[in-house]
Amino acid sequence: MARVVVTGGAGFLGSHLCRRLLERGDEVVCLDNLITGSIANIEALFAQPGFTFVQHDVSTFIWVPGEVDAVLHFASPASPADFERIPIQILKVGSLGTHNALGLAKAKGARFFLASTSEVYGDPLVHPQPETYWGNVNPIGPRGVYDEAKRFAEAMTMAYHRHHGLDVRIVRIFNTFGPQMRPDDGRAVSNFIVQALRGQPITIYGDGSQTRSFTYVDDEVRGFLALLDRPITGPVNIGNPVEFTIAQLAEIVLEVTGSSSPLVFEPLPVDDPTQRQPDITLAREALGWEPTVDLRTGIEHTTAYFRGALEI
Ligand code: UDP
Repeated sequence: MARVVVTGGAGFLGSHLCRRLLERGDEVVCLDNLITGSIANIEALFAQPGFTFVQHDVSTFIWVPGEVDAVLHFASPASPADFERIPIQILKVGSLGTHNALGLAKAKGARFFLASTSEVYGDPLVHPQPETYWGNVNPIGPRGVYDEAKRFAEAMTMAYHRHHGLDVRIVRIFNTFGPQMRPDDGRAVSNFIVQALRGQPITIYGDGSQTRSFTYVDDEVRGFLALLDRPITGPVNIGNPVEFTIAQLAEIVLEVTGSSSPLVFEPLPVDDPTQRQPDITLAREALGWEPTVDLRTGIEHTTAYFRGALEI
């Protein structure tokens, strides 16, 4: 049993992580400024004795009274739609927020866990992407606010590890979906399911030939805990290596929802990666982790969630 601080704990991934930590008997202090997270995501956790919520922007100084065993830094808007809307907050939470969270971990003698991203690989020229690949990121493009903030966060985390001897973990998270995604998140999975359920056109950006590899949230969180508990710094890719085109994703959503929504094609966002697939050799060998939920099954669960949440 441990006392764990989760920044961004009211977000999509953070809230699932808080729930799993509580289920295994850990105490959880959840920090979130609620700019993209929501109380609805953590509503059920308030009843649990080990759970505390503090509304706080971690890009300003963080202090948590008492002992802390681990700081899990999940605070950051992460949808491309957010990159346009709140770019400065994204840069601040990835840089200042990571520095503050590292400072808290150092002060407490706690383990630090960074939620990094497949976006550090940018529009990758190596396929699939192993952790050793340095990436292909446009620093001044609209995605650069997220990609470079996370690359800086990795650099800062490794500097604390080397310079201060801090015990750290870095996970690179690939596209993850599931219940508690925001319906207006702007992601392909949430957009397509909500559009299909409402009978609205499915918006495919570009010609739909770009690829992603989608991980169901329960698999992803299990990967986080496997990494947290093992003496491996990383970075470690945690993602489902089964790759789909966005057009294939749209077809699966239409089949699962039984919708007859038409497909409409819209312009591809600037710097949208053409392909993405994790090489998970390291996760398999070092963590014994691999995903178990296939895309269609995950889409079924997520569709059931959106039907309930949106009453459609
Ligand atoms: N996408 C799309 N229609 C949408 C939302 C996204 O075609 O309504 C595309 C987007 O351009 C990208 C892919 O789907 O190529 C995955 O987008 P998402 O925002 O889910 O994740 P990310 O781009 O961060 O991988």
